[in-house]
Amino acid sequence: MIGPRLVLATTNAGKLREMRAVLAGSAIALLDLGDFPAAPEPEETGVTFEDNARLKALHYASLTNLPTVAEDSGLEIDALGGDPGVRSARFLGAEATYEARFAAILERMAALPDRPRTARFVCALAVAVGPAILFEARGTVEGEIAPAPAGRGGFGYDPIFHYPPYGSTLAEVGLADKLAVAHRGQAFRELRRWIEATPGSHHAT
Ligand code: IMP
Repeated sequence: MIGPRLVLATTNAGKLREMRAVLAGSAIALLDLGDFPAAPEPEETGVTFEDNARLKALHYASLTNLPTVAEDSGLEIDALGGDPGVRSARFLGAEATYEARFAAILERMAALPDRPRTARFVCALAVAVGPAILFEARGTVEGEIAPAPAGRGGFGYDPIFHYPPYGSTLAEVGLADKLAVAHRGQAFRELRRWIEATPGSHHAT
């Protein structure tokens, strides 16, 4: 059973904006970590996106005593053996700028001119209620590393993620167009369908 409240457990403003946009209008009240300012962050020790999503969901569910959704996401670049992957937020150090990260990635790609530029964003989400994981979903979007950063929308690695069907990076499109195709949009739409289909989930009358 889930609801009437759900905690969106992320400290990333870009992620939170996307989560809220997908879940907006569903009959469940959305809280976020701004409502629990004293909650410490867990260490992300998992080796997969799924491990880290479960670890974060269980951590924040136990601190908030409420149903909690967490996600772990990142950019996998084939030519770099899947890097930065689960370390995307910490690539070159947690304090590194994205400009520095883009430059390092483009430099590494330039040194591997025969390798494909294919890459994907992955999002694994998990819902925890108390000590139990009740729901999990995964979304991915396939693209290519752009020749140079482009666009000011989105967040994180969006300016270097070229999405061929749009002919642009994901930082060059609006929020709705990004969510329609991207990893987090897919995973959170699955969550929304699950919330709406689960007996006992809260529906406004
Ligand atoms: P974590 O899930 O908190 O470990 O961090 C995920 C990291 O992956 C983010 O801080 C971004 O650097 C990157 N990332 C995840 N999703 C996106 C996205 O939609 N666009 C751009 N970068 C993303």
